[in-house]
Amino acid sequence: MPRMSHMQHMPLELSDLFVTPGSRVAVAECFVFDDLSAEGENLTVSPVTVRGEVTNTGGLVELTYTADFTYSKPCDRCLRETEKSMSHQFIHTLARSAEHEDSDDIIVVTGGALDLFSLVRDDILLELPVRHLCSEHCAGLCPKCGQNLNEGQCGCRSDAVDPRMAVLDTLL
Ligand SMILES: [Zn+2]
Ligand SMILES: [Zn+2]
Repeated sequence: MPRMSHMQHMPLELSDLFVTPGSRVAVAECFVFDDLSAEGENLTVSPVTVRGEVTNTGGLVELTYTADFTYSKPCDRCLRETEKSMSHQFIHTLARSAEHEDSDDIIVVTGGALDLFSLVRDDILLELPVRHLCSEHCAGLCPKCGQNLNEGQCGCRSDAVDPRMAVLDTLL
């Protein structure tokens, strides 16, 4: 399948920045992630605007950026397609090799070129809230007939028996 996104995979060249204390590289990108449905949950994500910079403060190379986008997937309770917008700042320490002890927090930039596309993709997937509701007060679906209870009650409600009461019934 032809893909238009090959140009977005151009890595961010940081070789000069790594050897030049005091230097900075501006980051301004718009990434399209068209494969996120593979992550499940019927997730769709708008183009992601990425703005920030990489700075070499002498000894420390840091990437700071803000990602702005909207994403959409079904409400956890009522399954209605629900869109949310998100603007989140990410900060990463970059190094050319994993020689530091606490290397979990450090992005290793092999060959001085950062794969920003993959990094942003991982960042936003990790940052998406686990809970996704159309509203905090979403009433969900009736477990019996599937009626969307935000749109009105179904006939099942009156039959619903508290399971604790059901146990009492059998005892009596
Ligand atoms: Zn809902
Ligand atoms: Zn019902």
